[in-house]
Amino acid sequence: MNMAAIYKRDLNNLKNDDLLLQETIFHNANGYIGVRSCFEEGYKPGYNSVRGTYINGFYDVAEMKQAEKLYGLAEEKQTILNVADTQSILLKLGEETFSMFEGTVLESSRWLDMEEGYTARRILWRSPKGKEAEIEIRRMTSFSRLSLFTIDYCVKSINYDGEMTFLSSHTGEVFNYFNPRDPRVAAESFKHLHPAGAGIIEGASYLLTYTSRSGLTVCTGVKNVLSGDAEIEHRVEQKGAFCSLKRSIKKNDTVRLVKYTIITDSIRWTDCRKQAVREMENAVSTPMEKLYEEQRMYLKSYWQKSLLEIEGDHDLNLAVRYNLYQLLQSAGKDKHGTIAAKGLSGEGYEGHYFWDTEMYILPFFILTNPEIAKTLIEYRYHTLNDARENARILGHQQGALYPWRTIMGKECSGYFPSGSAQYHINGDIAHAIVAYYLATRDFDFILDKGFEIILETARLWMDTGHFYNGQFHIHEVTGPDEYTCMVNNNYYTNTCAQYNLHWAVRFFRMMEKAKKEEQLYQSKITSLFQKLQLSISEIAAFEEAEKKMFLPYDQELKINPQDDSFLTKKVWDIPSTPADKFPLLLHYHPLHLYRHQVCKQADTVLAHFIFEDAQDMETIRNSFLYYERITTHDSSLSTCIFSIVASRLGLEEKAYAYFGDSAKLDLFDTHRNTKDGIHTANMGGTYMAIIFGFAGLRIRESGLFFAPVLPKQWEGYHFMIHYAGSEIRVHVDRESVSFTLTAGETQKIHIYDEVYDVTEVLIVPRTGER
Ligand code: BGC
Repeated sequence: MNMAAIYKRDLNNLKNDDLLLQETIFHNANGYIGVRSCFEEGYKPGYNSVRGTYINGFYDVAEMKQAEKLYGLAEEKQTILNVADTQSILLKLGEETFSMFEGTVLESSRWLDMEEGYTARRILWRSPKGKEAEIEIRRMTSFSRLSLFTIDYCVKSINYDGEMTFLSSHTGEVFNYFNPRDPRVAAESFKHLHPAGAGIIEGASYLLTYTSRSGLTVCTGVKNVLSGDAEIEHRVEQKGAFCSLKRSIKKNDTVRLVKYTIITDSIRWTDCRKQAVREMENAVSTPMEKLYEEQRMYLKSYWQKSLLEIEGDHDLNLAVRYNLYQLLQSAGKDKHGTIAAKGLSGEGYEGHYFWDTEMYILPFFILTNPEIAKTLIEYRYHTLNDARENARILGHQQGALYPWRTIMGKECSGYFPSGSAQYHINGDIAHAIVAYYLATRDFDFILDKGFEIILETARLWMDTGHFYNGQFHIHEVTGPDEYTCMVNNNYYTNTCAQYNLHWAVRFFRMMEKAKKEEQLYQSKITSLFQKLQLSISEIAAFEEAEKKMFLPYDQELKINPQDDSFLTKKVWDIPSTPADKFPLLLHYHPLHLYRHQVCKQADTVLAHFIFEDAQDMETIRNSFLYYERITTHDSSLSTCIFSIVASRLGLEEKAYAYFGDSAKLDLFDTHRNTKDGIHTANMGGTYMAIIFGFAGLRIRESGLFFAPVLPKQWEGYHFMIHYAGSEIRVHVDRESVSFTLTAGETQKIHIYDEVYDVTEVLIVPRTGER
């Protein structure tokens, strides 16, 4: 077994905070469903838990009170739902009920196996009356059967002969988590789900539950299968079902209960109950070992494609692996969902999707699993009409404006200065589509879906911006830095818009060419242009705006100011700010923050990574050093970007330190809110800090570029990438960099500015020069 595949923790000191954190860290998810890892038997009285089970893209609508009803402000939001509790199981040995808080826990541990795809808890327990048992509980959300969650509960008696009982419940009476003092989670409690009564079919309980306002239904099915003969009793109620399974156990005997949960919903299936019954039949008729085998095979292929190993630092390697595993757990597998800021691990940000997916996570999937990347982009295509509607609400005559935060496509941001005003999301989505295209050269996808998004987002820029003194300006927007809102000419936003316009024109030209040269494309492209009512004059206007895009530059400091007024503001004194005042957003009024030069996260520095050709290296260096002094990194989307740009500038120590902060963020709970869920964008950011930072990978229209450095703390690192249908394995060590073509055709690559063909194996000296 590869040790970097197992993440393990002892369960010695059961503090409530740590248990809440572990519910997140060890959650099970497969992109469709996610279940927090609570103890099946619960905690002791007085401890709280966020006992959640979530479905990607499944939501209810809640009111969002706007005290002053200004035109167009969102008054409703979507919220992810805690759908049902199927993880509860009580174990009784005679009259004594197993609990980690009673009797004596002689040994205990909990782990996640990232090659086998399950989490487990193992306890050697002595009851208050001296009964001893070894308990091992495995939990799995299947990657190949997305509706399936299993709890495999084994009890071995050490010294007890007698009766044992499992009390297994399935309840739809569940609530969402809320905290009125934290803007990063829901502020109020509301009953979103109404169970409509359970029924038993072939020994399994099925419960249909309806949402309050979104008109959706979820079906949960549960079946308990116990080894050996048992006395089984079902109790069915309006809000759920309960099953008691009684049998005897002897010293040294092992008894196994498998609890199968199936979850289906009315977004994906017209008859979700029928579907649940069908999937349950399939699952229970498949031996558990076969289900584990399927999981292992799925992950084998995932790890082959996503290979990334650091040599010489086991802990860091494990942290990186953990992050990549979580990305797979979080990524939506159909057009109805993408990746929530917290994946499917908790209720932070109410399950909303942001720009996080496109700018921080898609690069990983594009380079390793382009099929998953494509599905994630399809979600944006699926919600394009909502984005068009959103643009109209905001007063735009043309184009589409994607919502800043959403589940099903409509804007859910209640505070527009740091919400809807983040127009850069349009450019982020366009950028991701171009990145997908550049890495895959999948022109058909551009024709089918990608171009329409790029065009509609480009149209929005034309409607938002205007010419002033011969240059194209974009006013009253917010860039990524949420401590500076509603500004004119945010550098990041303007560079994004420029790139968006550039690619609208570029794809148009490519299509014009394909239309002339390839019979196959002729009618398809002609009808696409007709459908989109595209004209040559519109393309010419895009070109003009792109060329004349205003990018703020300060002659004296030789940096790009974050926006027109940023440098005129007072500088926030970060070194003198008490440590307990971070994150600033929880301690200072927004207006107070907006009046200062203080950044929550990378903004102009992010633009310097994404659009590094827009400025010379001296400007990028000056900017980096300038913004570094005034950035708090209160957002988890920040340090990875600083790491990448520091790498680019040859600031190796800094690059490594920022990278370390990013890699360990959730496992060490450095932002102190991992209990609300993992930080998926940062997890993608860790990957980017290695691939784009240390390995210096860039994909341009002219090809693939590498400039690898090796952090002095490591012996080497290797990874696999997909490029234009080929698979290339890259290995970096002290002396050399090797490239092995493991599948596909020969590829041309640029290494430290020399061009090579990778036909089989190519080894070049590692100069470290960029
Ligand atoms: C960040 C945003 C991000 C959101 C969700 C906020 O704290 O400022 O950039 O999209 O979290 O991760």
